[in-house]
Amino acid sequence: MSNQDLLTRELKSIKGESIILKNIISDLNYSGILDSTQSYDQFVTGFFSSQNLGFPDLAPVAGYITRGLHLENNHLGIDIAARNQDDVRAPADGRVMFSGTSEDLGNTIIINHPGGFITVFGHNDTNLVNAGEELQKGQVVARVGETGKSQGPHLHFEIWKNNQVLDPREIIPIYKEKDVSIRQTR
Ligand SMILES: [Zn+2]
Repeated sequence: MSNQDLLTRELKSIKGESIILKNIISDLNYSGILDSTQSYDQFVTGFFSSQNLGFPDLAPVAGYITRGLHLENNHLGIDIAARNQDDVRAPADGRVMFSGTSEDLGNTIIINHPGGFITVFGHNDTNLVNAGEELQKGQVVARVGETGKSQGPHLHFEIWKNNQVLDPREIIPIYKEKDVSIRQTR
């Protein structure tokens, strides 16, 4: 079995049949760093750690997923139920692209991360950072709220890569475990 076959099998076992994740890996051309001296554990660990400062794998809030992606309804992210005023954290290093208000998402922050990732945070009670600010992974950027079109406090959270919507549940492992949304085919 080739390294690539083993890698593919490994990714399937840890992430399920994640086409999106495989696309990310091929986009980042990470297969290029695979060689015979490197174990797959090392490869996978490396992929999800410091080699990718822009990879948005830190949960921005603790909470349960109450709604998933519904592309047909223009719901391009997940909703995470959380308490009013809970901290919203940057899921990776990056720079604030937008800190302002939109009609649907209320107080909104958009962060640009190295590697082509963009994350969106909606319904914030308060935005705590300004456009242009450099962020470190884990830095508090907002407080949870229910501004915009929202029923109860929650974070609306989107992850994009190269203008493609990703499912945060595929990127942030804890959200797969804390998912109580109704599954829909998409
Ligand atoms: Zn939402």
